[in-house]
Amino acid sequence: MGPPGSGKGTVSEKIIKEFNVEHVSPGVMLREEVRKGTEFGQEIKEIMQSGELVSEELVIKMTKEVISGKDNYILDGYPRTIKQAEEIKEEPIDIVIDLTAPEEVLIARFAGRRMCTKCGEGYHIKFIPPKEEDVCDKCGGELIRRKDDEPESVKKRLQVYQEKTQPLINYYKKKGLLKEINGALDPEEVFSEVKKLLGKLNT
Ligand code: AMP
Repeated sequence: MGPPGSGKGTVSEKIIKEFNVEHVSPGVMLREEVRKGTEFGQEIKEIMQSGELVSEELVIKMTKEVISGKDNYILDGYPRTIKQAEEIKEEPIDIVIDLTAPEEVLIARFAGRRMCTKCGEGYHIKFIPPKEEDVCDKCGGELIRRKDDEPESVKKRLQVYQEKTQPLINYYKKKGLLKEINGALDPEEVFSEVKKLLGKLNT
């Protein structure tokens, strides 16, 4: 959990490299649809660019399909509403990590975020810089700013987060699953805190 820009995607990438878990991110899957220009991708493109949430039914169906039968996975960007959480309440969730960060930190971060137009890999010009400016390390694709990282969409995304997603913090707190980490720290420090929490789960 955590507002847009809090580093969910970045820390998820680090977790999957070190632990035996799969990364399940509706945001990544939806952007992939848009990038490939599928019919579904064309339908959701404008909604995503505006910073609004994509139709719940579709996201719920897609996410449930992906996690079905999987034992070890990290959900990044799901659930984003109480309804979405209720839909996966039978899943044995080990831990819910909430990355917190003040709005000014989030806004400052968006300016530096970049994404590969070819493979979707995420970068940040200060924290996760590519080896060569504006070129993806993984596939050589061009790096651009995500449309929904533009100031207008960011404002909307933060507002949507406050209204629809923030109530989930209490939802998981009541279930005794929630652990908070300061998402304003550098990615490596956040990851080190995450590792401490995940390490405790295994013992
Ligand atoms: P993210 O990469 O997680 O920031 O997601 C980017 C965008 O994808 C969001 O702003 C939404 O438009 C859409 N999206 C991602 N996850 C969800 C979700 N769980 N429910 C609805 N829309 C979502």
